[in-house]
Amino acid sequence: MSSYPQRVADNILPLSVAGSLPDAFKEWFFTERTEDHEQPIEDCELCNQEQLRYHFEIENRNNSNRLWVGSSCILKFNVAVFENGKLLNEKGAEKKLNTLINKMRLESCINALKKLSSLENNDILENALNYYLKNKCLTPKFAFVVFWRLKANKIDHHPSFFKINLKKDNFKNDLKNMQLDRVHLIWPALSSSQRKIAIKFGHYAPKNA
Ligand SMILES: [Zn+2]
Repeated sequence: MSSYPQRVADNILPLSVAGSLPDAFKEWFFTERTEDHEQPIEDCELCNQEQLRYHFEIENRNNSNRLWVGSSCILKFNVAVFENGKLLNEKGAEKKLNTLINKMRLESCINALKKLSSLENNDILENALNYYLKNKCLTPKFAFVVFWRLKANKIDHHPSFFKINLKKDNFKNDLKNMQLDRVHLIWPALSSSQRKIAIKFGHYAPKNA
């Protein structure tokens, strides 16, 4: 089995003009195209890392060769990332790629919710979908119903991709008064500070979390 730097060189050099690294990477840029494969089933065409869910496309400006890679390789090899025609620095590039991942996660949550509300003729789910589209998060009560029904219908989803709104006092109260098994169902969607609030309310973390 070849080493990691060798694999990267073997993949990128035949598609580049420059004959060596890191010069070859200077020819490449992120095209803004992304793909969510829904499951971690894809490889990075640069380093051959497996189990990628999100693909990012890079292109060679000299010959238009393209590769689908993981975001970490774009950052690791300083592949150019632009915003409105401006080259981003390392921090800016990382922020942009993270924003794109969050956007894909939001999309996958919306798709799961749409699938669910079309399967079940239920006002609560319809309202939860509309609330999510408007606010990009769920109330604790909506989250419980949504995760419960997503599970029951075996709709593929990641509870941790959803965000919970605890900004209003009545949402905090809803969490406070929620049964523990329901709190555990929405636990993956709670942020670390929200989990602290839940614990302050007398709840505790699920054993497998
Ligand atoms: Zn890679």
